[in-house]
Amino acid sequence: MKTVLVATEKPFAKGAVESIKKIITDAGFKFQLLEKYSSKEDLLKAVAEANALIIRSDIVDRDVVAAAPNLEIVVRAGAGYDNIDLSACSERKIVAMNTPGQNANAVAELVFGMLIYKIRNQFDGSTGTELRGKTMGIYGYGYIGRLVAQIAHGFGMEVAAYDPFVDKNLMDKDGVKWIDSVQHLFSSNQYVSLHIPANEQTKKSVGFELLSVMPQGACLINTARKEVIDEDGLLQMFEKRPDFIYVADVAPDNAAIIAEKYAGRFYFTPKKCGAQTHEANNNAGLAAARQIVDFFVKGDKTFQVNKF
Ligand code: NAD
Repeated sequence: MKTVLVATEKPFAKGAVESIKKIITDAGFKFQLLEKYSSKEDLLKAVAEANALIIRSDIVDRDVVAAAPNLEIVVRAGAGYDNIDLSACSERKIVAMNTPGQNANAVAELVFGMLIYKIRNQFDGSTGTELRGKTMGIYGYGYIGRLVAQIAHGFGMEVAAYDPFVDKNLMDKDGVKWIDSVQHLFSSNQYVSLHIPANEQTKKSVGFELLSVMPQGACLINTARKEVIDEDGLLQMFEKRPDFIYVADVAPDNAAIIAEKYAGRFYFTPKKCGAQTHEANNNAGLAAARQIVDFFVKGDKTFQVNKF
């Protein structure tokens, strides 16, 4: 019988653990739980029997892989998987997966939470601005981008998106204007929300050249990754465009300079919190359990993120 270990230093909610357990045991597998562990040793011991592992931000490094001779699959309940040593997994032919899309709504809602907080002047009682009738440009039309489009429509915004990997028909169906270039996205939208992954093509790709073509009252919202921003270009934009504001789910490296020189024109979450909702955490946990069952029962590797 396959053993599925849920190893979470920061546990899932109790109800979510019960649901995960049910998915695993209904499929005929053994459920094992390690929560709130205080040392890596505890994790190393717990993985000894595991054929599958569900984790959150827990570190699966080479030592963990070595301590788990039966491990066939590890699933990160969440979007990012930089806490898994993919090479160590691939060398042992262990499938590594994430649970994409499960936290998308949490991130999309945060976009508007931060945005309204900022354009209503952090609720200080002074005169702010509204979203109705304004233009929202979405850079990266994946799980999160699509939900941002839906919510923006609810606010009465006009919505456009740039994503060369997404079919124009899909945007047409969603009532989203298809944009042919990233330059055009920035030049035609007062608000631009970033939903691209951080990779070799996108890192440092949003700099002064793009930002400077934004219309008056320009506002950049970043719940993607700080690495996609060219921070020198960002500082240049703050300096040359007094109308520009920037909100981000996690501060840029030069946040102290921005705070000192451009007070009132930014908001940064103190700690990355885009996916930090009970719903997102629970959804991701349940999805991880289902993916493991599908992997063992049907050989389904749809969400595999490593190659071997
Ligand atoms: P996704 O994979 O569903 O969407 C990403 C989209 O970006 C895809 O449609 C892809 O085609 C598009 N894309 C890739 N390269 C592009 C490029 N060069 N130009 C234009 N479009 C490009 O991912 P998602 O779930 O929507 O998440 C998007 C990003 O948000 C993640 O990669 C992650 O970095 C970030 N994220 C942040 C948090 C948070 O807590 N703030 C949580 C989850 C995800």
